[in-house]
Amino acid sequence: MDRVSLSEFELIARYLSRPAAAERGDVVVGNGDDCAVLAPSPGHQLAISVDTSVVDVHFPHDAPPAAIGHRSLAVALSDLAAMGARARWCCMALTLPAANAEWLAAFAEGFRALAARSGCELIGGDVTRGPLTIGVTVHGELPAGQALRRSGARKGDLIAVTGYPGRAVAGLARWQRGERESGHPLLEAYLRPEPRLAAGEALRGLASSAIDISDGLLSDLRHVLMASGLGARIDIDALPLATPLRASLDLDEVREQVLNGGDDYELLVTLAASDLAEAQRRLAPLHLPLTPIGRIIEGEGIEGVPPRHLGRSGWDHFPEIAS
Ligand SMILES: [Mg+2]
Repeated sequence: MDRVSLSEFELIARYLSRPAAAERGDVVVGNGDDCAVLAPSPGHQLAISVDTSVVDVHFPHDAPPAAIGHRSLAVALSDLAAMGARARWCCMALTLPAANAEWLAAFAEGFRALAARSGCELIGGDVTRGPLTIGVTVHGELPAGQALRRSGARKGDLIAVTGYPGRAVAGLARWQRGERESGHPLLEAYLRPEPRLAAGEALRGLASSAIDISDGLLSDLRHVLMASGLGARIDIDALPLATPLRASLDLDEVREQVLNGGDDYELLVTLAASDLAEAQRRLAPLHLPLTPIGRIIEGEGIEGVPPRHLGRSGWDHFPEIAS
């Protein structure tokens, strides 16, 4: 693998890492040495996750570079949100087919803007030549012992979801049809998903389990059910349906998008029914609805969903291995 040593990359690395690491006391040594050296907050635990975004697998090659930068960080931050962690630091492994200063500047701006808004400092990076691939490792902090885990669901808990899943897959379909309307809510949902970091933190101590919806609502719910050793009953009529979805498709297609779409990065949580009102109150300042869509029940599997929506089990990168 070629090492890339073009000055653009160094410029971009510097550009990405604004504001200077020295401004933050938790970054003892930042970008530019062999390793970053960090000072975690006393009494906290680290939450760490990595995500890889590959061109034409995770995003279309003609997506706006700023959206690719935003998205590659957003999907990683979403995992911190799902644990209830506060974002602190990130590293990027960037593989590029060629140096294009204009593309890089836009990509860096998309990444940097979300990083700055999330309090997530870029503390290291690596650039190589090859097919466009962005690997992002995120580090977050949690008060010791307070991580929201997939395994915590209890029999009788409500199942609730933030926001309006299903918009991203509808946006991707529009993009693939050649629609480029700037600012369209469905295109935005796909291109610039918003990691629910503040919601994850707000639900700490209240949610019994949590996961982010990356593969699809049903698919990710199954992960919670497997980890918790329980089943679920979904109220199909309770699914939150985004207005632009209802406007464009029949109800069955909308439900399919909500249940199996993926890529929205909303949070799916379980919690005691008596805690729902408090959870909704905590999310109100974020203008983020939290909609109960079912219950955790004894047993296994998912009840209440018509079989036509159960056929898919979510995104599988290696179907030839599974079959
Ligand atoms: Mg996740």
